[in-house]
Amino acid sequence: MTIAVFGSINMDVTAYMRRLPKPGETLHGHEYKLGLGGKGANQAVAARKLGSEVAFICRLGNDDFAKPAERELALHGVDMALVRHDETGATGIAIINVGEAGENYISLIGGSNLRVDASDVARARPALEKARVLLLQLEVPLAASLGAAAIVRSHGGTVILDPAPAPEGGLAAEVLQAVDIITPNETEAGLMLGWQPETLAQGLQAARELRARGVAVAVVKLGAKGLAVAAPGLETVIPAFTVKAIDTVAAGDCFNGGLAHALEQCQALEQALRYAAACGALSTTKKGASAAAPTRADVEAFLAAQ
Ligand code: ADP
Repeated sequence: MTIAVFGSINMDVTAYMRRLPKPGETLHGHEYKLGLGGKGANQAVAARKLGSEVAFICRLGNDDFAKPAERELALHGVDMALVRHDETGATGIAIINVGEAGENYISLIGGSNLRVDASDVARARPALEKARVLLLQLEVPLAASLGAAAIVRSHGGTVILDPAPAPEGGLAAEVLQAVDIITPNETEAGLMLGWQPETLAQGLQAARELRARGVAVAVVKLGAKGLAVAAPGLETVIPAFTVKAIDTVAAGDCFNGGLAHALEQCQALEQALRYAAACGALSTTKKGASAAAPTRADVEAFLAAQ
């Protein structure tokens, strides 16, 4: 049994500056980093670092950014058999400027991610059929993601949709009904519902409202406050663990990778959410996206110390 991730892969080019440049201005930064990104890749690496077998279905372009992306995935032991090279496409990139106070500008160029389609689903069918859990996000075309979801569900697997980046016009009821678990943060829940939850109690209300739209399990992530869940037989809030956060980039991706891992290991939902919350919390104590994702030993030691 494995986890399948159907989603985006980018290279992130991050420039660190004293402050952000104004339009038309050229500024010297003091450092830059080239690193693996994209919500699909982040979630794949996060689940893999916890020890799950992970098949990642994605598209890279035919350019110089494809190689370092593959190298980083391989380094973490993600199964690359379904990583496709788009002969006429460009690898997705994010161009990120970060100022000293952590403020940022991000320009995202989806490239080959935006060409993912039914042919990628067809190629991945055997992996999807044996996946116990499928992780989806909103950085590749939704129609293809839903095709992958249908295969996984028809073979008894669980589909987790992270509705990120925030869907501008919300998500249709058909989409909510095509997945098993949805995991918006407060902004994403706000766009789906028309009002934004701020507290854990409001998060629980938001989760209930999302359930009423047809998804079996709604988890609303509220950053350092924690999360709320509404599911059959379970309505509760789980306050966040206390950690010294230094970088919250990809906390949500580490959370979703952790949730998939815990469910694949057959943990009950409430326990799996606590495990995922530990993954999210630990990821904020280190810099970076996949680099900050904890290992299984990290999470076990952290939970044992609570
Ligand atoms: P996203 O990155 O999608 O916005 P969140 O920031 O809500 O996701 O993080 C997901 C989960 O990770 C939270 O529900 C919480 O359990 C945990 N988490 C995130 N930030 C912190 C933090 N600063 N301290 C402790 N836990 C955190």
